Amino acid sequence: MLVTGLDILSEARREGYGVGAFNTNNMEITQAILEAAEERRSPVILALSEGALKYGGRELTTLVREAARDATVPVAVHLDHGSSYTSVLKALRFGFTSVMIDKSGEDFETNVAETRRVVEAAHAVGASVEAELGRLAGVEEHVAVDEKDALLTNPREAQIFVERTGIDFLAVAVGTSHGPYKGKGRPFIDHERLKKIAELLGPEYPLVLHGASGVPQELIQRFRAAGGEIGDAHGIHPDDVKMAISEGVAKINTDTDLRLAFTARVREVLAADPKVFDPRKILGPAREEMRRVVAERMDLFGSSGRA
Ligand SMILES: [Zn+2]
Repeated sequence: MLVTGLDILSEARREGYGVGAFNTNNMEITQAILEAAEERRSPVILALSEGALKYGGRELTTLVREAARDATVPVAVHLDHGSSYTSVLKALRFGFTSVMIDKSGEDFETNVAETRRVVEAAHAVGASVEAELGRLAGVEEHVAVDEKDALLTNPREAQIFVERTGIDFLAVAVGTSHGPYKGKGRPFIDHERLKKIAELLGPEYPLVLHGASGVPQELIQRFRAAGGEIGDAHGIHPDDVKMAISEGVAKINTDTDLRLAFTARVREVLAADPKVFDPRKILGPAREEMRRVVAERMDLFGSSGRA
């Protein structure tokens, strides 16, 4: 069933578990995410970036919306990193039940004003809004941020930002970064900062963690063994994710893990059988691999069995 982002996240925050927002770009990824959600009886957020919308067009949004409606678990369809008011309006027109406006690269006052505008439009049609304060290191789809320039979220500013914009959930910068390179060894989450933000926003307020993929070393090894090339890739440790959830994070974004699972499996299938040319025999196993990864994430977040 199609619900809003806030429907899913306010319950998650109240009950102390996290819900995954998994990025989708096509039919197989969408099916993998929803099959895992059905199997685990977990609420889920299907996230589409502007890049995904450009790639999949109207066909992708129609597929995602219909699949979400048909699901027997709560599903929100969410715009990930909306870059403009226009982009958000398009998503709302497509029937998205949740949108993110990301003006975190702008100064504070511009971020407030632009986000406020989006909140007015989205709330008028019953959709939830996420915005970001502070900047994540690494590469967003549309914003490149040098790691040195990355600014972590200021707790007091976060409180003012939420009050002035009326957003439903806040994406915080607490040390995670997008992509498969999250620093050497165990990546860093500023738990003290996270706790302070949660304390100021109150015990019911859902926080969002971007760049939270686990980057499982098993997948990295398989990716390499099947001919893939990737540098020294690391993700967020499962214990860090669990701790962040206990500290106030309700929405955890995961994209990289699905990309790795997909590509590792496609490479394995093609390498194992040079004669294969049926797309279903190539994409089917990749879908199964992604379903497994999503189900594992749901177990980690504690959302399994909640729907
Ligand atoms: Zn993100």
